Amino acid sequence: MAEGLPPAARAVAVDVLVHGAQSRAQLAKKTGLSPATLTRLVRPLLAAGVLVETRAVRTPGRGRSVVPLDVVAGDYRFIGVKLTTESIHAVVTDLRARVLDSETLAEPSLDVPDVVAAVAGLARRLAARTDRAIDALGITVGGQVDKGETVADSPFLHWHDVPLRRLLADHLQFPVHLANDVVGLARCQQWFGHGRTYSDFALLTVGAGVGYGLILDDALVPTLVRPISHLPIDPYGPLCAWGHRGCLTAYVTSGSMTAAVAQGSGREVSYDDVLQLAEDGDPLAVRVVDEAARALGRAVAAITSLTGVERIILSGESVRLAEVGRKALDAARLEYAAPRTGDLEPVVRPMDFFEWARGAAVIAIQETFPDARRRIP
Ligand SMILES: [Zn+2]
Repeated sequence: MAEGLPPAARAVAVDVLVHGAQSRAQLAKKTGLSPATLTRLVRPLLAAGVLVETRAVRTPGRGRSVVPLDVVAGDYRFIGVKLTTESIHAVVTDLRARVLDSETLAEPSLDVPDVVAAVAGLARRLAARTDRAIDALGITVGGQVDKGETVADSPFLHWHDVPLRRLLADHLQFPVHLANDVVGLARCQQWFGHGRTYSDFALLTVGAGVGYGLILDDALVPTLVRPISHLPIDPYGPLCAWGHRGCLTAYVTSGSMTAAVAQGSGREVSYDDVLQLAEDGDPLAVRVVDEAARALGRAVAAITSLTGVERIILSGESVRLAEVGRKALDAARLEYAAPRTGDLEPVVRPMDFFEWARGAAVIAIQETFPDARRRIP
């Protein structure tokens, strides 16, 4: 067992997990520890099977061989589950969050017992299909999650104070971890995605709602999702469901955009229709997409100003908005930019619901590795 690892040992194990196999010398240099200290730190990690010595490689020219340390990612199995109003998306991953299996299920209803039973059934099915024991399951939902235990408020699922972690754990044989869905996605980007090479970055997602995750100095900053979703954009803008005039939500959510086009055109449209119409040059759709993209640009500028992060990742199921409306987004982003910050272009990374489920698996991975892990040979 690797219980009670000193923080420095944990940091070394995580560095190997995130950045791949490395020699003791490389790790010593990176952490600023002496080679002797590093060797001492690594010893219990090797004994517990958290790290293993991989095949020795000869260093070019000098004839000496070094033995890189690595994790055995394939020995682990995690389940990640993302709940939406329509579907339950689940993946099975290894320790490096590589997806090995996946399944989507229609929500039986949004009643808590029905959803819990459906998720438990799906998890058991995935567990039966995999060749190793499940280390842990992570589940994420849109909305406010308290202390990893309770869905305090999910406007999408219409849930309040639902002790989801315990309800699900009662049905399953492995540990269960619960988090907000944007937190999962941000943590996944931090360890295994586009944020991997950045100590500081923000993630802004658009879809049915607006999500915001912030990593500063390699740590997730607890952010309430809502303040940014209702960021004031234009005091003369449209209303959101909460009665704010011209907030971010009133412009960028898929519901706001489809409603605006439906109202103007007098016919029902889907979100994809809105973007297609805009690409085809329909003046109403162009206006709605440009205004939404402009609002998104303002939000990006606000995040840069307030946090100082250099990289902002735009994502979410409606993020094609940032591509179709790119000009408007950039114009708004740069309107009040200082000369140097003008270069900090946000990166647009579309992600499907399996990517969100992968984020849920990463919650489980981060809760499990390296302390709670014993390697089964
Ligand atoms: Zn609002």
